Amino acid sequence: MSPANATSDPWRFGETMTAIDESEYQYATENYMGWCKECKEFTRDCTEPDAKGYDCPKCEQLTVIGAEDALLTGEITFRG
Ligand SMILES: [Zn+2]
Repeated sequence: MSPANATSDPWRFGETMTAIDESEYQYATENYMGWCKECKEFTRDCTEPDAKGYDCPKCEQLTVIGAEDALLTGEITFRG
């Protein structure tokens, strides 16, 4: 957290995180949408917020996790 090396993203592991709007996250949790770690977007319906390893309808890999879990594990973060 040194200001000497400050960028727009202070997290060193930030390159794997995707920034989304908080409203988008809330919509996703309310509608049980699943986040795909490969596609870097919400691709799946009927996904519990704490789901892990669900199938992605887009890339067909077992890379979908629940919205809440995506936030907790640092897959997504809130924009600005
Ligand atoms: Zn996918």
